[in-house]
This record gives sequence, structure tokens and C-alpha cells, in this order.
Amino acid sequence: MKITEIHVYQHDLPVRNGPYRMALAEVWTLTTTLVKLVADNGLCGWGETCPLGPTYAESHVTGALAALNEMAPGLIGTEILPVPLHRQMEGLLNGHNYAKAAVDIAAHDLLGKHLGVSVADLLGGKLTDRVPSYYATIVGTPDETARMAAEKRAEGYPRLQVKIGGRPVEEDIETIRKVWEAIRGSGMRLAVDGNRGLTSRDALRLSRECPEIPFIMEQPCNTLEDLQKIRQQVNHAIYMDESGTSLNAAITAAGIGLVDGFGMKITRIGGLHPMRTFRDLCAARNLPHTCDDSWGGDIIAAACTHIGATVAPELLEGVWVAAPYIDGHYDSENGIDIEDGYIRLPQGPGLGIRPDESLFGDPVASF
Ligand SMILES: [Mg+2]
Repeated sequence: MKITEIHVYQHDLPVRNGPYRMALAEVWTLTTTLVKLVADNGLCGWGETCPLGPTYAESHVTGALAALNEMAPGLIGTEILPVPLHRQMEGLLNGHNYAKAAVDIAAHDLLGKHLGVSVADLLGGKLTDRVPSYYATIVGTPDETARMAAEKRAEGYPRLQVKIGGRPVEEDIETIRKVWEAIRGSGMRLAVDGNRGLTSRDALRLSRECPEIPFIMEQPCNTLEDLQKIRQQVNHAIYMDESGTSLNAAITAAGIGLVDGFGMKITRIGGLHPMRTFRDLCAARNLPHTCDDSWGGDIIAAACTHIGATVAPELLEGVWVAAPYIDGHYDSENGIDIEDGYIRLPQGPGLGIRPDESLFGDPVASF
């Protein structure tokens, strides 16, 4: 089965009750990029990549389109199997994992439909039909964030991620204390995400002033050097998110014991094929991790859910999807939603999502 056509679409996803505020950026609307692959047997598959603005990661929306334009002509005729597909993409463009991921996801969707199996089964097989999610707060005042934490606890979320950074560390510490008061005793796990925004000085202080609160610190600082510097001095487990820019970076971080787990994004690592390897190396090192993406609609959310369903439940920190922050679905029947803090695995072959193409308008590029 070979690729005969590639169509690229772009679609705006406004942030519900925006903006979405992190340590170093706030966003009001995001443009997602969708890839439709058509095979020589007439089947088609969908992929998606939606950078969270131009500063969250080393990715941006115009870059996604440019990278796809660069690769697409050379992908026509490529075998729709992960190994030859990735080899072909590497031969056409260096880097730009987030654009390659959209092609990779579409290929998995197509291959699943061709074989009559779900993407989770293609990735080795599901262990569950329902994956845990987690809620991520924006950087907010201590009281607002604590109120949100209580609300999400009541909704049944098994985990909460509190965004911090970009302001005096005293306010971050007060926020964490108030959030903990709101959720302690509930069993809800707590992650504190600095999104690269803290100095090592503030990260150390935050950990030292909250020794009794069992949170994990997600990507508190910007660089590997900063993470290395604080590693031996903090009371809390450290997870890597933004710095895990490739499979190689993740292997190094796991191998030298720099981190206790990962927040991982499918598009950052280049798609479901490398994500599968990442999952297995985390299992070998007994490292918990998430299966997320930074933003996007039903296609990327389904991809996150399928890989999440194949992770050992004791190592799956959760599957984050943007559904609570965006309105509507690409597929009104099978779209991805969070119910009581969990996400049901879509049914049917491939990703199990049949997008309403009319939502996307005309392709911005076709090959
Ligand atoms: Mg994060």
C-alpha cells in the first residue's frame, strides 16, 4: 500500500474562555494542521499537529506547513509502513519532528483501516478501553487555582497539573499550598509544571518550602544544565517535558538518571512510531510518563488515547487532550471527550475518528 495523494488543511481552534496562560506565553487561538493521506487502494488516513503557539516548543504553525510542503512531493509512492515512511521522511528533511508526526499518525490511521485493526493494536495492543486524563490549570491566582483544583477533584480527575512560573515564586508557592489543601486526602496526584519558566534558584526554593507536599516538578527550568544542577538538591521528583525533544534526548535523560519521568508529546518526538519506542524504553527503566500533545482536535487526541491505552497502567501518568478548552468536534459521533476524568478509547479500525472534512475548507496544499 503506497501513498498516492497528500492533502494539507489548516483549521482554527479558538481557546474556550481564553487565554491559556503558561509561564512564558499566553494563547487565544491556535491553528491546527491536518494531513490526509490517500493510498493506492483508495483508503485515506488522517494526522494532525498543532503547535501551542510559536514559543512553547521549537515548532510553529507556518513551520508545520513549510515542512510538509518540503517533504510531500518526495513522499508520493512511499510504502505506508512506519519504518520505510520514517526513513523516507528523514531523507527528505532534517528535524521538524512535529510535521513528520502528522504524516506518521495519518499512516497509522490508514494502516489500521487497511488491516481492520485499531491503532492501539498496531502499537502492540491495548491494555485498557479507558485511559486516565489529567487537568492542566493555567497560571492563575492561588485562590482561583485552588477553586479549580477542587472542581476538577469533584469531576473525578485522577491527576492535576498546576502551571506555575513567570511571576514571583512566592505566588507559586502559595498556589501550590492552597491547591494541596483543596485536594489532599482525595488520592488526586499533583504535578507542578514550570514550563521552563523558573530559575534554578526559584526551583530550589519552591521544593524546599513545600517539603511535605508530594508533587512532581515538571520541566521547572529551561535547560538540561539547570535540571542537572537542581537534580541532587530538590525534595521532589523531576519530570522532563519540553527538553525531551527527540527519542535520543529521552534516552539520554533516562540513561543518566536525570529525571524520574516524562511529560511526552507525540508530535515533539516525531509520531506514534518513535512514541512506541519511547513507551518501551520507559517501561524498561520503570519511568512513568504521559501520552499527550500540546494542542489540537479529535485526530491528535485519538492518537494520544490509542498510545496511552498500550502503556502499562502503573506507568501511565495520563493522557492530556485539549478537548476541555475547545468547542466542537471533527467527528460529532466519535469525537474525544473526557468523562469523569477518563477518556474512552475510540472504536473501529485506525484512529476510530471520521472527521467531517467540510469543517476544514479547501486544502492549503495538495500533492
Ligand atoms: Mg508540561
